[in-house]
Amino acid sequence: MVRELSHFIGGKHVTGTSGVFGDVYDPNTGQVQARVPLADRADTLTAIADAERAQPEWADWNPQRRARVLARFLQLVEPERESLARLLSAEHGKTIADAHGDLQRGLEVVEFATGIPHLLKGEFTDNAGSGIDVHSLRQPLGVVAGITPFNFPAMIPLWKIAPAIACGNAFVLKPSERDPSVPLRLAELFLEAGLPPGVLNVVHGGKESVDTLLEDPRVQALGFVGSTAIAEYVYTTATANGKRAQCFGGAKNHLIVMPDADLDQVVEALIGAGYGSAGERCMAISVAVPVGAETADALVDKLVARIATLRVGPSHDPEADFGPLVGRDALDRVRGYLDIGVAEGAKLLLDGRDLRVPGHEDGYFVGASLFDNVTPSMRVYREEIFGPVLSVVRAASYEDALGLASGHEYGNGVAIFTRDGDTARDFSRRVNTGMVGINVPIPVPVAYHTFGGWKRSGFGDLNQHGPDSIRFYTRTKTVTSRWPSTARESANFDIPTMD
Ligand code: NAD
Repeated sequence: MVRELSHFIGGKHVTGTSGVFGDVYDPNTGQVQARVPLADRADTLTAIADAERAQPEWADWNPQRRARVLARFLQLVEPERESLARLLSAEHGKTIADAHGDLQRGLEVVEFATGIPHLLKGEFTDNAGSGIDVHSLRQPLGVVAGITPFNFPAMIPLWKIAPAIACGNAFVLKPSERDPSVPLRLAELFLEAGLPPGVLNVVHGGKESVDTLLEDPRVQALGFVGSTAIAEYVYTTATANGKRAQCFGGAKNHLIVMPDADLDQVVEALIGAGYGSAGERCMAISVAVPVGAETADALVDKLVARIATLRVGPSHDPEADFGPLVGRDALDRVRGYLDIGVAEGAKLLLDGRDLRVPGHEDGYFVGASLFDNVTPSMRVYREEIFGPVLSVVRAASYEDALGLASGHEYGNGVAIFTRDGDTARDFSRRVNTGMVGINVPIPVPVAYHTFGGWKRSGFGDLNQHGPDSIRFYTRTKTVTSRWPSTARESANFDIPTMD
């Protein structure tokens, strides 16, 4: 049975008028499991218009009342966690346990945003001049939009929706068309939680829909997460059209292994961070950098032995360490990179190209793969593979390892494993990367800090969630006031000062 999905506009399920549909696959089997309508310009304009209609009244609700909608949403999700995780896993291909984490990390930002009465407080200066007070307000922008990737279909939409609507904006979400069911269900739950219709609209689609959001003057700000080429395109187009934009792109995250690190700890960290979710995480570790030949040899031996025990299976198999890739194109791309690495002279110690999962021969599976002797000039080092492929780049010294991570064009996350506090501190201060883990392989900051990569992993100046998200989704108005009971001064033709 192929399910038929819809857009969610003005609190209603609508198919739209484009007449164009995309297929949603089951990555475990390669079969089509749903059809999703793809919005054209007209469908997207309808969603924008609906958001514009709903926004002023929503912005007028006091912040505590808006926070209660978010709190109610959290309650409504609770009994649905398992069904949402299963739905997410079935469309994405990550394991059900991992899908729970995807949802949980998103809900933590909703929890953060329930603090909006406090987060929105402005500043106040009493008696800035004689009889003059100054205060600032944080006001919503109006209609804002989010364009999100396939790899975290619960977490990233929630990272954007929750702070945006808490601030009093209306939101148009354009989720990935590859796994659209969970964002759609989350929007339904927001409506059930008391969000007025139109404050959160979901339109599915591709470039035409995104371009409409980029061009329409009613859309004040755009948040994007996805691949770097499109992040850059969305950022340059949005800003050229006078919009705020924060656009996060691809990654190549290094894990530096110092000679004093506990290698058993390092191996477990690398396996989880490298192969979890089949490597389809922007914070996945894809490059291991052991320092010194002795560290490298010992690490590679341990990695080979441990990776051989990994179990790849359908995403609903509770014994599976990771499941299939999201689609046929992803499978071809990852296999293609393994071919490229071999041709470039990297040593393919473990080759997942021909993995077959019994009973799931048409699923998009690649086995855990390991390259040794990768060098910085190789494409498998420079480019994002986004699959279960770990590359070992051997560094002669700490400075070389630091230089590799700092010099890479991506700068999302990085980790160092060491027992030496001085090295760790030096590394975290000097490395040219947005998020750093010290003995932590995937340093995704908690909801009340902010998330964002540097260099070609992030375009824009404000990060996601945490205090930056409140700044991104509001603008500051500064009010200077005085209440003289009589006209005490005559006209002043000089620029006023507070002397
Ligand atoms: P993608 O760039 O293919 O798609 C992202 C979004 O852009 C989707 O909603 C898609 O429909 C839309 N889109 C696709 N083509 C478009 C076009 N030509 N014009 C306008 N919009 C278009 O990315 P993906 O494959 O869904 O996600 C994987 C990528 O996302 C990886 O590169 C990964 O590193 C990155 N990612 C980054 C972060 C981060 O925080 N830096 C987080 C998660 C994922």
